[in-house]
Amino acid sequence: MGREIIVDGRPLLNFCSNDYLGLAGDERVGAALAAAARDWGAGAGASHLVCGHTRIHQQLEEALAEFTGRPKALLFSSGYAANVGTINALTGRGDFVLQDKLNHASLLDGGLLSGARFKRYRHRDVGDLESCLSAAGNGRKLVVSDGTFSMDGTVCDVAATSAVTQRHDAWLMLDEAHSLGVSGPDGRGLASAPEFTTADVPVLIGTLGKAFGTQGGFVAGSEELIETLIQHARTYIYSTAIPTAIAAATLTSLELAQNEHWRRDRLQSLIARFRAGASQLGIDLADSHTPIQPVLLGDEQSALAASAALEDRGLLITAIRPPTVPAGTSRLRITLTAAHTDDDVDTLLDALGQVVTSDGNRASA
Ligand SMILES: *Cc1c(COP(=O)(O)O)cnc(C)c1O
Repeated sequence: MGREIIVDGRPLLNFCSNDYLGLAGDERVGAALAAAARDWGAGAGASHLVCGHTRIHQQLEEALAEFTGRPKALLFSSGYAANVGTINALTGRGDFVLQDKLNHASLLDGGLLSGARFKRYRHRDVGDLESCLSAAGNGRKLVVSDGTFSMDGTVCDVAATSAVTQRHDAWLMLDEAHSLGVSGPDGRGLASAPEFTTADVPVLIGTLGKAFGTQGGFVAGSEELIETLIQHARTYIYSTAIPTAIAAATLTSLELAQNEHWRRDRLQSLIARFRAGASQLGIDLADSHTPIQPVLLGDEQSALAASAALEDRGLLITAIRPPTVPAGTSRLRITLTAAHTDDDVDTLLDALGQVVTSDGNRASA
């Protein structure tokens, strides 16, 4: 995994991974994984509560709590499991789960499974959220939002969302899958900015599979939240712990993510280079200043055709289509990573210029 990926023996420039910091293929992370696999084996052997929780898992939970500025953190086998388990531990029949319309599938699935009354508010529309909160009756209320939205690169207004949520005695759960490692000082994410406390964003979700380049998920928050999840989050209780070696590799990548600032600087300069070049080509860009740079093409056929034409030119950018995104908004979800170079971005722009016409982003393969 890196800037290049081999498909059927042919190297392609990879512009569709979530490996934002370029750590998934980092030698030091791989070496930490290999060394820990020799010491601890390939599998954790059991769930955390039985005998799968090693001191390496404990160290990683403590490091993640420290990183996010929260009292405690709890590991899950994936971000998906963290979301489903957390929403279901915190809400049930008679409660309310309010979600941004463009939230990730794992959040929507968690809400549906909970049996709580389920409402989706307009994307990043705090006014609409407030109406939904006002209309909700008695019962616990959980407001759930992506931090950086996975298919659009837009960002939650944490201050406004949190203010409305607290005004209505609700809790805010923020999924920072795409912002941890990438946004904020040292990559600590959106909710760890100095102006926010744990009370502002009481439930913080992260994945290890994106900027940290490994595998797994976690929840960070108060001691009471984490103890509640240990007792009630079924995807935590009834699932094998991530391999100890993966936890060890993540301790290494977490440290690299914090200390190697050049990775975030590189990413910012690649984002600026891409956006400037694309707008020169007349390509309609989304309002995103994150590594997620979608190029909307509309119907599924256009997105598939553009993806195929880019592959012919040596680039891998899979077409994203319904039901992952709403009908009529099929797109190329371009992602930039710290492993890319300026030349890679220029190659991408060249190919896009040939494949996407400026006239409403139509594929002209
Ligand atoms: C990828 C993603 C997840 C799931 O994380 P995994 O660790 O891959 O299961 C959850 N939320 C969002 C917003 C994501 O993009």
